[in-house]
Amino acid sequence: MTNNFERKLEKYADLAVHVGANVQPGQRLMIWRTPPEAAPLVQAIAAKAYDAGASLVDAMWLDDGLQLARIQHAPDDSLEEFPEWLINGMLEHVQNGGALISARGGDPDLFRGQDEERVARVQKTYVQHLQPVMSHVTKGEINWLVIGAPTKAWARKVFPELPVDQALASLWELVFDICRINEPDPVAAWQAHLANLAAHSAYMNEKQYTALHLTGPGTDLTVGLPAGHIWKGGAGVSKAGVPFTANIPTEEVFTMPHKDRVEGVVRATLPLSYGGALIDDFSMTFKDGRVVDLQAGVGETVLRRMIENDEGAARLGEMALTPQSSPIAQSGRLFYHTLFDENASSHIALGRAYADTLAGSADMTTEELAAAGANHSLIHVDFMIGSAEMDVDGIRADGVAEPVMRGGEWTFEV
Ligand code: ZN
Ligand code: ZN
Repeated sequence: MTNNFERKLEKYADLAVHVGANVQPGQRLMIWRTPPEAAPLVQAIAAKAYDAGASLVDAMWLDDGLQLARIQHAPDDSLEEFPEWLINGMLEHVQNGGALISARGGDPDLFRGQDEERVARVQKTYVQHLQPVMSHVTKGEINWLVIGAPTKAWARKVFPELPVDQALASLWELVFDICRINEPDPVAAWQAHLANLAAHSAYMNEKQYTALHLTGPGTDLTVGLPAGHIWKGGAGVSKAGVPFTANIPTEEVFTMPHKDRVEGVVRATLPLSYGGALIDDFSMTFKDGRVVDLQAGVGETVLRRMIENDEGAARLGEMALTPQSSPIAQSGRLFYHTLFDENASSHIALGRAYADTLAGSADMTTEELAAAGANHSLIHVDFMIGSAEMDVDGIRADGVAEPVMRGGEWTFEV
């Protein structure tokens, strides 16, 4: 591609290293879950990381074709096999304080038309084995980042009307634009944006609503919020004191829902691409925090298997608010990748809660966390429920409802 593209790729890599993972001098960096096609991005990130003083940069690839070969051809009794060495290696990396960047861009339709049962078994095995690593990551013990890595298969899905080379160029340009790479100074633009997210979080933290009430087409949902819940948005700080931004792009502020206090019905406003399977046109009914009923026009088996993964998989672990004016909603494109689509819209996640969205959680036992309302699960799957027709009210301790969002936009200035 053009020199112009090379310059933007370099700025994107710079953003990943300095604003995203914020790789430190002497720190090792692992770039993982990355399609081999994204090697130029990985190499650009590696160069920036070494410039920042990284001591060793390595990559682990996730190849779509290899995954598909397994789903289609592996013996049925082999689908629970997993390479233990890989988890041991990842654990060694994070326990020694290494940074992680996940540059994702696989085919959203990879498992379309495949045996849903086999897909679900492989996915369950994957999340089970990854759990020890993910628990370090979600506790914020290390500085980490998830970023997009456009590929042809992904671009074809987002721009089906274009020849594939043009689709890929268009997807890259859209990703650059959404990630503020076209701003004169992307790093400064991100610092201003992160400050804005922090101000919205601070407002919501001050309010300490006991619940949010969300209404929209097909949605009338009350999400209880535990006492001491913390709204977060933008940057976080690792245990070693390194500020980092876990997702680029990010447009959300989010907190912990109470795992036992979710009531009502919610309708998804965007399809969900879950491990290569598409779930679309779906809604769920909650009672006492648990999904008691669900319908899906597409992928209902995958969705049912997902919530049966474990006890916490049918309960919520995240409540996130994103205004419709976010650059992703404005783009009008569906990305079929949660990292992007979740920033188009307010969303909730089934499964594991982020413990650091609850005050005092670091000193709590697993039992105390559960009693406080924190959900535990091997999965964490976001899906979009926001729209330009969504209203959100905050319920105060005295029962009074205050407007938080109207028509998908914040009702307050910060
Ligand atoms: Zn989120
Ligand atoms: Zn999430």
